[in-house]
Amino acid sequence: MSFSDDERERYARHIMLKEIGGPGQQRLKGATVAIVGVGGLGAPAALYLAAAGVGRLRLIDDDTVSLSNLQRQILYASADVGKQKVERAWKALHARNSNVAIEAIAQRISGQDNAQSLLGGATLVLDGTDDFATRFAVNAACHSLGAPLISGAVGRWQGQVATFKSGPTKHQPPAQRLPCYRCFVPEAPPDAETCAQVGIVGALTGVIGSIMALEAIKEIAQAGESLAGRVLLYDGLRAESRTVALKRDPACPVCGHE
Ligand SMILES: [Zn+2]
Repeated sequence: MSFSDDERERYARHIMLKEIGGPGQQRLKGATVAIVGVGGLGAPAALYLAAAGVGRLRLIDDDTVSLSNLQRQILYASADVGKQKVERAWKALHARNSNVAIEAIAQRISGQDNAQSLLGGATLVLDGTDDFATRFAVNAACHSLGAPLISGAVGRWQGQVATFKSGPTKHQPPAQRLPCYRCFVPEAPPDAETCAQVGIVGALTGVIGSIMALEAIKEIAQAGESLAGRVLLYDGLRAESRTVALKRDPACPVCGHE
């Protein structure tokens, strides 16, 4: 896979990094990244991944742009209110980098069957949705497809990012297997809160969405230390962050008993 003059100049600051270089940039160009939910987290992540030269971005969201989205969903402008998010996102991302092939899928992931078909062929999946049924379906599909999952969540002033690389692991000894999202969140919490209920600082979604894009670039370019098996917690009010190790649950309904 060779680069055009435009691409060589465009990605020059990546290519000079020893952890990315030409080979890492080639891997980015060869990758397909699916982004589930093009909202507060998916919008900044999509902008950075398009700018980074990921070969193919698949945007999955059935929502339309509302006025209250504009405080944080930086892909969209005032004139986009009422329009389909994935269509407006396509336009903004194509304007940023026309080397990237963008698939705009105006559908909602509602269960494992459609998750499996909408995520098939993805090198890696980003999930920034705030709905547990969708998160569980995306996790189960990623586990069975063997696609790494980078999951982000935000509320009020706090956010978190984790990477899950649980499958396919059947040939690995149990002690070396990594947890999946469901090992971390076994059931939807009964008191689950959404940003619509509790509020969210717009700039925090930019921080967490950008970390998701950064971890995606690291996974694809094979740079640095993977976040797999850990969760990074960020407290915006205290300006503090920490990472916590996650454990695999041998009784997990998705990755246990294998
Ligand atoms: Zn699991």
